[in-house]
Amino acid sequence: MLLTRGSLSLIKSCSGKLFHTVPQTMKAAVLTSFSEPLKIKEVETPKPGPNDVLVKNIACGVCHSDLHIAKGDFPGRPQLPRILGHEGIGEIVELGSNVRDHLKKGNIIGVQWLHKTCLHCEYCLTGRETLCKQQQNSGFSMDGGFAEYVLMDADFAVKLPDGMDPYTSAPLYCAGVTTYKALKVSKVRAGEWVSIVGVGGLGSIAVRYAVAMGMRVLTVVAPNDKAAVELSKAMGAEEVYDGPSDQHGKWVRQKVDGVQAAIITVPLIQAYEEALKSVKRGGRIVAIGLPAEKMSISTIDFILREIKLIGTTVGTRKDLQEALELAKLPSKVLDNLKTMLCASGNIIKPLNDLEERAEQEKGSADKSTAKSGLVRDFWDLVGPTKR
Ligand SMILES: [Zn+2]
Ligand SMILES: [Zn+2]
Repeated sequence: MLLTRGSLSLIKSCSGKLFHTVPQTMKAAVLTSFSEPLKIKEVETPKPGPNDVLVKNIACGVCHSDLHIAKGDFPGRPQLPRILGHEGIGEIVELGSNVRDHLKKGNIIGVQWLHKTCLHCEYCLTGRETLCKQQQNSGFSMDGGFAEYVLMDADFAVKLPDGMDPYTSAPLYCAGVTTYKALKVSKVRAGEWVSIVGVGGLGSIAVRYAVAMGMRVLTVVAPNDKAAVELSKAMGAEEVYDGPSDQHGKWVRQKVDGVQAAIITVPLIQAYEEALKSVKRGGRIVAIGLPAEKMSISTIDFILREIKLIGTTVGTRKDLQEALELAKLPSKVLDNLKTMLCASGNIIKPLNDLEERAEQEKGSADKSTAKSGLVRDFWDLVGPTKR
């Protein structure tokens, strides 16, 4: 007996149990040129190697990095053609021959940026696998989640905790773990002040995590951006600065006597320079926004006030597990993410649309959708399981 659920074929065995048949080909949004939109193509379904699992995608978030990769902005461009996407979530439908019993068919796992690392270098051996020089990255050096099926390395597969919604949770596998880890390395303790500079895609998740971690949150938003002020407050920020961008450091020091750490989520060099003025002595500036320009800093200020500037990128498997578990608690992390995922429209169809959308959202009154281009639109287009 053959049943179809979207493009997923299910065959009923004699025992009545359903199992999957994996088709020879699948639909994918493929990057074929750095100057053209993604193309929806029929391509060969990947076959798992010994240490891989084959994942039937349910959802995949669209990260701003996908736009940079597609335009060839990042150093070390991917080889083309390439399937992008590193916020995927799906169900394991096949296991490679060496995969141990920690994973089973039917498990729901993520397809995150850190696809695999060497496991043997000084970084991998000291819990800093994000620094491994031999790492492979989903949607960059490996094909990623903008497809019906995708491979994931079994050692790097991180299960979605039971009861969590894959559609809502997809962005946690990049934006979520990135902001959670930024807050972790900020060393801000519960009850202490942190500033989140920018409340777009990363910033709004950072506010939610910071609140869930018990931090007192101050946000810095664009001048007179009343919608961002409202959103900040709705997410639990106690103070919001929406004045002139070159005054934010001074304001923060006057308002709360400085913050323990500032998390910079926007690609604006001025935000970094102002943040330096906003932190307390011994404070930390945590960098996740990626400005193209170089920063001008007062070395004396850094030394005498013992300021630490910390760069951080995504997170380890352990960070990811922690970020997921925290989002599962009855905190506001997931509730609010859900609203971020609601926007719809055929965003993946041409990548240009996606960019246009990101631009629109930058200036949009509803900052809660700033990350949104997000998830299910691709799936509406391609046609797998709909809810
Ligand atoms: Zn990302
Ligand atoms: Zn390594």
